[in-house]
Amino acid sequence: MTTITSFVFNPFYENTYIIADENNDCWVVDPGCYSEGEQMKLINYITEKQLRPVLLLNTHCHLDHIFGNSLIAKTYNLSPYWHENETQIAKNAKIGAMMFGVKAPEYVEPGGFLKEGEVLTIGSSTFKILFTPGHSPGSVSFYNEKEKYVIVGDVLFRESIGRTDLPGGNFDVLIKSIKKEILTLPEDTVVYNGHGEPTTIGHEKKYNPFLR
Ligand SMILES: [Zn+2]
Repeated sequence: MTTITSFVFNPFYENTYIIADENNDCWVVDPGCYSEGEQMKLINYITEKQLRPVLLLNTHCHLDHIFGNSLIAKTYNLSPYWHENETQIAKNAKIGAMMFGVKAPEYVEPGGFLKEGEVLTIGSSTFKILFTPGHSPGSVSFYNEKEKYVIVGDVLFRESIGRTDLPGGNFDVLIKSIKKEILTLPEDTVVYNGHGEPTTIGHEKKYNPFLR
């Protein structure tokens, strides 16, 4: 059984997630901490809860999802894992930073790549990797079937979808990913996204104007 905790970080109000198991091992997903205060908040939380970060994951590599990669990598001696289609996106974060007028995240070499259909295990829990490109060319989602939740990054938001105007984005590919990989999950599955409040598959099927 896992517990999931979220933090809202950086000028883009990005959701960072900590997934912890029953033995206090944890995953850090999309660390977006940007300011020193945000960095301290995340590290202090991990310390106070006596968690042991064992894996650093990125749903995709837009700058707001990787600001904290170097902090987590250095502090816990971890390397980030992402889909191989995201390496160029991570390297291009510098350009995005100039565009948005923020400081660039430090590039951290990945420890390996996440593959579609691969199953990741933490404690007694498992997450299947869903390949959900469109917002970004290598976006992945982490699906915990037993505990009925999925972490989707910027693929799907509450009553909205991810933007597709950034390099490597593609609207038709995104809609296809959502319909094929996400909306086919059970309706009571909770969707934790990269920005804003969580939602459910059932809610999005009913109310998401992009998915009619
Ligand atoms: Zn994004």
